[in-house]
Amino acid sequence: MKTIGLIGGMSWESSVEYYRILNQTVRQRLGGLHSAKCIMFSVDFADIERFQHRGDWPAASEVLVEAAQQLQMAGASLVLLCTNTMHKLADDIEARISVPFLHIADAAGSRIRAKGLRRVGLLGTKFTMEQDFYRQRLVDRFGLEVLVPKEADRNRIHQIIYSELCLGNILPASAEILRKIMADLAAAGAEGIILGCTELELLVNQTATSLVLFPTTQIHAEAAVDFALEDS
Ligand code: GLU
Repeated sequence: MKTIGLIGGMSWESSVEYYRILNQTVRQRLGGLHSAKCIMFSVDFADIERFQHRGDWPAASEVLVEAAQQLQMAGASLVLLCTNTMHKLADDIEARISVPFLHIADAAGSRIRAKGLRRVGLLGTKFTMEQDFYRQRLVDRFGLEVLVPKEADRNRIHQIIYSELCLGNILPASAEILRKIMADLAAAGAEGIILGCTELELLVNQTATSLVLFPTTQIHAEAAVDFALEDS
């Protein structure tokens, strides 16, 4: 089994989920007392959030590249960045390590194609929903059509992520808002929904929508286990 390196802390509420899913998946696949070999470098999210909202991406990049290099030095055979948003800096990280970097949008895109879907709704931070680094990758590499909610809903989701979920507050009223937004995306023609923020699956699950849900924490962690158990 290969050792999985995780850049976590963005937020730690979802990094905990990565740790749980990696271990549960290895146990399901290998049985008995087997568990995942992994190393996490967990950053201070207050620093990252400040860099994001000031648009100081070079400062954020420095922190994440350093974390990835530390993981590699500590023996990680692959690196996962445990947040969709910070994949804005995926190229910086990938260029500065020699072990594979498993991109979260590629893990999601492969899963969507495997289910035979083509038009999906994307929920996440405003960075993820509005900028090209994530949506365009799904279009270019997987031939998907990506729908996003209207502006007021994008603002609401962004606020739920940073002011509630990243602080560990899971509120039924916010789950209801998500349900409504997913119904609107279904009406606009979406066949599936990407939960493109690693905290969103703390708030809603498949029971919240009739569309196929693609929870990126679960999918990304499972893809890492596939890689870690390959040839073992
Ligand atoms: N975990 C979130 C994501 O998957 C948002 C927090 C962050 O900005 O990294 O995008």
